Amino acid sequence: MTEQVTNTSAHFEGEGVVSFTAEPLGEIRPGWARIKVDVCALCGSDKRLLASGAAVVPGHEVIGTVVQSAEGAPAEGTRVLVYIPVSCGECKACLDQQNNRCYNLESLMGWQYDGGFAEYMDAPPQCLIPVPDDIPADVAVLALDTFGTAAHALRLGSRTQPGGIQNLLVVGCGPLGLGVVAVALAMGIPRVSAWDPNSARLALAEKLGATAATDMETINQYQVVAEVSGAGPARASAQNLVEPGGAILALGESNDPYVMPATPRWRRTDCFTVRSFYFPKSEVNDNWDLLRSHGAHLRDTIMTPTRLSDLEETFTRFLDGEYVKPYITHEEI
Ligand SMILES: [Zn+2]
Ligand SMILES: [Zn+2]
Repeated sequence: MTEQVTNTSAHFEGEGVVSFTAEPLGEIRPGWARIKVDVCALCGSDKRLLASGAAVVPGHEVIGTVVQSAEGAPAEGTRVLVYIPVSCGECKACLDQQNNRCYNLESLMGWQYDGGFAEYMDAPPQCLIPVPDDIPADVAVLALDTFGTAAHALRLGSRTQPGGIQNLLVVGCGPLGLGVVAVALAMGIPRVSAWDPNSARLALAEKLGATAATDMETINQYQVVAEVSGAGPARASAQNLVEPGGAILALGESNDPYVMPATPRWRRTDCFTVRSFYFPKSEVNDNWDLLRSHGAHLRDTIMTPTRLSDLEETFTRFLDGEYVKPYITHEEI
C-alpha cells in the first residue's frame, strides 16, 4: 500500500441520504488484514441504518480480495468472504466453532466496524473465509446472509423433525425467503411451497422451483413454516398453518415484538419455534456445494449489479421493490 491509494467509501447520513468520501488509505488496525472489495450486496437490514444514519461505513455482505494479509489471515490475492460476527474466540461457543453464538458478541462488520460499501475494507483474520476458485463473486456472496442464514435455519429446524423436513412453506419472498426456497430445493426437501402477497415476488419463488401456496387459512398444512417476512399477520398465519409436532422458523425481523397470541389455537398447538442467527463457520464448506448446484440460478433470478456511486438511488429502487437483491461491484457492468 502506498499513500497514493485512495479509498472511496459510502456514508449513511440518515433519512436515506448517502454521501461519499475519497481519502488515502490509512493504517490498518494491528492484527487485521485489508481487502479490496469485489462485491457488496445490499441487505434489507441496511434500511434501518439508511434511515437512522451510521457511524461506520455500512455494508455487510462482502466478498473481496486480500491485498494486505496478517497473521492467521489468508494470503494476499486470496478471495474471501467477510464473516460478520467479530466473536471473542475464547468462549464455549467459539471454541466449538459456533462463532455466531459467541457469548461475548458485541460487534458485527458493517455495523460496528467499517463495512463493504467502499473500495477497501479491513477485517480481523477470523472474519475472512477463503472462497473456492470455481465460484464467481456474485454467487459466492450469496453464501452469507442469503444461503448461509437460510441453510443454518433449515438445519436447525430439521433437528426438531425426526424424519427431516419433507413439507416446507416459506412465507415472505424477499431475498432471504427466496434464499430459503433455493436452499431447501438444493437440500432435496421434497415439497417446497411459498407465499407472498406480492405476486411478482411469488412468481420468483415459482421460477426457483417452489409451488405457490393458495390456501393460507386451513390449519395444520405444513410440517415446517419458515416465516421470513417479519410481518405480524404472516407470523399469525405461520402459527395456524404449522402441523402438530412441526416447526416455525422465525427468520423475519421487524421492529415489532414477536407476539405469541394466547388464542385457543396457540394454546393447543404442539410445535417448535426456532430462531436462528446467521450461521456457524463450520457450515460454510457444505454451503459451497449448495451454491454450486443452486447459486447461479438464484443469482440470475434476483441479483442486479450496480455501482458504488449510485448507492443512494440503488437503495431507493431496492426500497421500492424494483430490485430484489442489488449489489455493488467495481467491475464493468
Ligand atoms: Zn444482511
Ligand atoms: Zn466467543
